[in-house]
Amino acid sequence: MILQLKPNPEEADLAGLLEYLTKEQIAHHFLKPLQVVVLPKFKNERSFSSFPVIQKIYPIDTPYQLASKAYQEKTIVTVNDVSVGDGLFNIMAGPCSVENEEQIFKTAEFLSKQGVKFLRGGAYKPRTSPYSFRGLETEGLKLLRKAADTYNMRVVTEILDLSLLDEVMGYADVLQVGSRNMHNFYLLHELGKINKPVLLKRGFQGKVVEWLLAAEYILSGGNGNIILCERGIRSFDPSSRNILDLGVVPLIRELSHLPIIIDPSHGTGTASRVIPSSLAAAAIGADGILVEVHPEPAKALSDSEQAISFSQFSQLIEQIKPVVKVTGKQSDIEKVILKTGSL
Ligand code: PEP
Ligand code: MN
Repeated sequence: MILQLKPNPEEADLAGLLEYLTKEQIAHHFLKPLQVVVLPKFKNERSFSSFPVIQKIYPIDTPYQLASKAYQEKTIVTVNDVSVGDGLFNIMAGPCSVENEEQIFKTAEFLSKQGVKFLRGGAYKPRTSPYSFRGLETEGLKLLRKAADTYNMRVVTEILDLSLLDEVMGYADVLQVGSRNMHNFYLLHELGKINKPVLLKRGFQGKVVEWLLAAEYILSGGNGNIILCERGIRSFDPSSRNILDLGVVPLIRELSHLPIIIDPSHGTGTASRVIPSSLAAAAIGADGILVEVHPEPAKALSDSEQAISFSQFSQLIEQIKPVVKVTGKQSDIEKVILKTGSL
């Protein structure tokens, strides 16, 4: 249950409510930035009808509260004037890792000509083996920012560790929490205090309820700008790198107000399956996709099997436009077409 407080409540009224909750041993969390009191386990709303400090009571019986659709109908995340979750189909694209200046500039130039507004790229990479390419680190962040600024794009990059937060905040427009970090509660807690959007990937073994509780960590700190990203879950079957759970899109629509995008690259692990999965993501009503694109996929230093080439990306755009239209959404790329007639 969530108790929404009146704006600027009298201190004594607020203290009265909190004292009552403590006295009655009702577990509660006063979230000052949001002016709410969350009672994660409590169900009887009549107990609070006499408290003048309460504006509205939201009865919510899921473990996640602020992430619930019962609390909020819709969240629109705005990243430097481009909105996510607002009836647009957003396309975020770029290499798995930033590798050098030429690679990221070539990619940004190509993507921006296609109308893409979000440039993704890893500078600090989570790699299974310490001997794999782990990213250019600070240099990668600088190149990503420079390329994005040159082509008027927004930067999406991973925040791999809490110790890197200040640095990554200096370069990113959207901070990506990778699949391996969905359970990094201390990192999530700190991301609740920042004022930039967070792209929260689903852990590859993460249940939906755990994913929404990970979002709850960020929301409860006061940061409501969260974009969920399904990137495939691990299964018993090695035929595909991951199982892309597209059915989670309508499920999230029922459970939560947060926008949700699909990552068909990690979701399938194979370039040839990226276009069909992207089309399916659009058809099932996702708010967008996050796709790995590389000027020379075979030479990519990470995730080369799943990176699509520029020509494959152009095909993806051509094929996805009519699908997006059928769903009643408008592509953010389409918006550029309407505005400039440039494609
Ligand atoms: C990535 O986006 O390159 C990445 C490492 O993703 P994930 O956390 O989903 O594996
Ligand atoms: Mn990758």
